[in-house]
This record gives sequence, C-alpha cells and structure tokens, in this order.
Amino acid sequence: MGRVYNFSAGPAVLPEDVLRQAATDMLDYQGCGMSVMEMSHRSKEFGRIIEEAEADLRSLAGIPDTYKVLFLQGGASSQFAAVPLNLMKPKADGATGRADYIITGSWGKKAWKEAQLYGDAHVAASTEQEGYTRVPKQDELSLSPDADYVYICENETIYGVKFPELPDTGSVPLVADVSSCFLSEPFDIEKYGVMYGGVQKNIGPAGTVIAIIREDLIRDDVVPGCPTMLKWKTQADANSLYNTPPTWGIYICGLVFKWIIAQGGLSELQTRNRRKAALLYDYLDQSSLFKATVAKEDRSIMNVPFVTGDADLDAKFVSQAKEAGIVNIKGHRSVGGMRASIYNAMPEEGVRALISFMEKFERENA
Ligand SMILES: *Cc1c(COP(=O)(O)O)cnc(C)c1O
Repeated sequence: MGRVYNFSAGPAVLPEDVLRQAATDMLDYQGCGMSVMEMSHRSKEFGRIIEEAEADLRSLAGIPDTYKVLFLQGGASSQFAAVPLNLMKPKADGATGRADYIITGSWGKKAWKEAQLYGDAHVAASTEQEGYTRVPKQDELSLSPDADYVYICENETIYGVKFPELPDTGSVPLVADVSSCFLSEPFDIEKYGVMYGGVQKNIGPAGTVIAIIREDLIRDDVVPGCPTMLKWKTQADANSLYNTPPTWGIYICGLVFKWIIAQGGLSELQTRNRRKAALLYDYLDQSSLFKATVAKEDRSIMNVPFVTGDADLDAKFVSQAKEAGIVNIKGHRSVGGMRASIYNAMPEEGVRALISFMEKFERENA
C-alpha cells in the first residue's frame, strides 16, 4: 500500500526519512539489542539521545545558554496550567498574579480559561466576535505594564490565523504557544520569555511538549499548590529527567531535528513553506468555488482553512478527496469546511496534488 497525502492538523505527517530510520532502529538501536522504547531513560544510550536532541535544537534555532530547553509531557494543554502556575507571581498582600491574554482562536481561549483557575487572567483583545479571522493590531491591545506575562497562541491551528509580527509587550515577558508553527521558519527566541509547543504538529509524536524558557522565569516562588511535575524548576534542575520522560517522543524529535539540519535549516524550510502556502492561497483567491477564510495579512502558512459556502458540497469534496488519496482535509468539528495542514514534512508535490484535485472538483461542480 502506498502512502497518502496526509493533511491532518495533528498528529500529522512526518518526514519519510525519519520514519524509515525509526523502522531500522526499531528492534536494535545502534547495536544495543533493544528498541529505544525498551531502554532505561537513565542509560548511556538514552542520555546521548536527549543531549543530542537538545544540542541540535539549540544549534538549528540559535537558542543561547540563557534559555533552558525542556522536554515535557502531557501535551501542549498541560502548559495551559503550567504557564500561570509558574509565572503568576503571588503578591505580598495575598492578591493573585495577573496576565494579559490576546485571544485569536480556540487554543488561546482554552489557555485563558485555564489561567483563570490560578489568577487574574485578563483578555487584552479577542477576535472571537469576528469568527477569529484576523489578528488584532497593536493599538487594539489593552496591555497592563505590571502584568506577569502576555500570552499568545502564535499560530491558531483551527482557524489558520498567524501573528504576522509579535505584539510589543515592553518589558513584560511574552509567552507563546507555537505548537502548530514550531520550527516552520527561523525565529528570535530573545523576543520571547517562554515558547512552548506540543510536538505532534511539526516535530514528532503526540504527548511530548518542548518548552524553551528564559532562565529568570524558572522560579521557586510559584503559585502555591503547583504540582511538582508542572513546576518548571523541577524539570530544569533534573534536565527533563525528573521522572521517566517521553523517551520515544524525544528520540523521534531528535531524528526530525537532524532531518531539518540536513534540509538546510529553518530558513530553507521557511522558503519551502512559504512557496507551498502561496501555491494554495493563490489558487483559493482566484477560485470561484473555494474561498479562504482568513484576512490576507494574517494567514497561516501551516494551516489553511477554506470553504465552498455549502456544507453538502464541502462534505462531498472531503469524501471524494479521500478516495483520491488526499486525507484528513476536513475542517475542525467546531468550524466545518476544509483545512489543509501543510507542515514541514508535507512535500510540495502533495500541495500540487491537492490543488489539481480542487481544480477538477471545481470544474465538475461549477
Ligand atoms: C494541538 C494544539 C494544542 C493541544 O495540544 P495537545 O498536545 O493535544 O494538548 C494546543 N495548542 C495548539 C496551538 C495546538 O495546535
């Protein structure tokens, strides 16, 4: 059986080279007679896997020593709680900490809801009323200079909205959920206090989450009652080995980092990703049947939602696409329509195959 073009939003397509390497290593990892899944997280072999993964990530993304790289578990959603628990400073008078949330989609909204359990989570702006089809401008943000942090979801996976540039938060640390745009292009980590992402969108299997945290934000005086596992200091002091980490996930991430380096690094991926997205959006913008849903300047180059405007026609498209080997193209259950996720590992030929199929469908259903 051949491989399909998998446009899933996550868990998502991984590079074939990585899957083949994992298959080769499956029964006997580098002559040690066992799979990575079967070995101790304290073994010399696994020690090398996690150290190399961190070193490769640091070198490909230019992450300095002033930032810690943590390999955590519980998915991105566990960090919805970890962020406020670690960063909302309890005040001397007993008041809770405060944070500003810029909400551009359902992941940001979920994170904001979680933060309300631990402190004063203020909405600095939300585009919910407009169906999350754009990102608010700087002058629309109501930011407080004494907030403990400003939170964004940099690329909203469901609505396909991406911050074209980061908000200016002054001296308040910026915290970003980058799950669905992680390592899709170069970034300057020094613009962030904390960046984290579930890896199942662009980097590896579900369950593992990578957090890159400025050292001064890793503190002991967290919100009282913070679970030991969610305290970043616990994890940082133990180099992500406080308990058994998601060893298999970390190993695959490591292979993907090596794959990215072999492709030419993040700027090469950005070039490819922009080209793939431009092909698809250019087609959508001239189509008389399909329509992209997001404001041009705020469009994601990873997740591309589109609609025909007719739910029955959308369903017909999704089912015929599947027969043609173009799968997982249905929009999120909360928004309907279609969504093509075109992460790093989706080849340009996959995007071209999708567009050809859409052209044919458009002709047949005009
Ligand atoms: C998928 C996703 C999440 C949730 O990730 P889990 O690993 O399922 O917790 C959070 N944020 C964004 C932006 C996502 O795309």
